[in-house]
Amino acid sequence: ATPTAVMVGTGIAASFGVLIKGGDVLEKISSITTIVFDKTGTLTSGAPLVKDIIQIKEHFKLEEAIDDKDLILYFTYLAEKGSEHPIAKAIVSKIKTLIPSKMDEYKDRYSVREFKNRDGEGIVAIIDDKDENKTIEVLCGNDKLTHAFNSELKQNIDMLEQEGLTVILVSIDRIPQMILSLEEAHLAKQESREVVNYLRKVMKLRVAMITGDNKHAAFKVARHLGIDINDVVYKAYPEDKKKAVERFQLERKEKVMFVGDGINDSPVLAQADVGVAINSGSEITVNAAGIVLMKDNLYDVINAIRISRSSFRRIK
Ligand code: ADP
Ligand code: MG
Repeated sequence: ATPTAVMVGTGIAASFGVLIKGGDVLEKISSITTIVFDKTGTLTSGAPLVKDIIQIKEHFKLEEAIDDKDLILYFTYLAEKGSEHPIAKAIVSKIKTLIPSKMDEYKDRYSVREFKNRDGEGIVAIIDDKDENKTIEVLCGNDKLTHAFNSELKQNIDMLEQEGLTVILVSIDRIPQMILSLEEAHLAKQESREVVNYLRKVMKLRVAMITGDNKHAAFKVARHLGIDINDVVYKAYPEDKKKAVERFQLERKEKVMFVGDGINDSPVLAQADVGVAINSGSEITVNAAGIVLMKDNLYDVINAIRISRSSFRRIK
């Protein structure tokens, strides 16, 4: 590659808000055969809405569960407000509208001492109770994190998932307390379908999707976008996302571009031949990616490929 061609190519890309880290990356883009998209926050707006809240004590006659629904909601709020995941944002804003007066009442008594992300599973928070001088453990996430205890509860979760909902379980001190079901507000970003179609039909690339979300939610989005459900990987941990890309590379000899919004995506961004971070405020993600899209617009994936293909065609 001539340095001039690289400079022109990356310069044009930069004018679109597409930051390409050097000539090697620019060249690799033109050789990719498969694009793997993350679902939440990438193909979908990542702005789900809380649809339903079920208190477990009430519905499943679990004696040891907490009575006070507002308190469970408040603990959930405290735990989730430390997370940047779209799911967390939806939960936090919903709870704010449900218990506005309790928020004030509890605020001096409880505080978050510790917060941890469990990649692909959810979050764990340790909360201090100043009045009783004790700590409370709150888990929010899918059934991999929280383990749905009894079979009735498990069945209920399966049922909700079959409707294409994302189900989050809250347990407090290891006792399941609440089920939240969330629905993607807009099934997909406005441009997703057109972009997927263009990549497949015009650019002749294979398009796949990877998500930590459940099977039904994943298939619903894939069908809507025209992605073959055989190319959908669901309930994937960040490590599984990385392995799935590796499988494409080794078994199918594909050159893979991965596009993700970054939350939990650093390992897979690094594994891909070309990693693309979209709409990401996270420094870790930006470091792991070869391309950073400054705007939240998937058309820029097409722009990056076009620019690369034309830069390298010119100099060959
Ligand atoms: P994706 O971007 O495909 O949704 P993630 O790895 O970001 O994949 O998340 C995978 C799953 O982990 C989510 O679908 C959800 O079940 C759970 N999860 C992640 N973060 C949170 C959170 N803050 N609160 C509850 N659940 C979470
Ligand atoms: Mg994501």
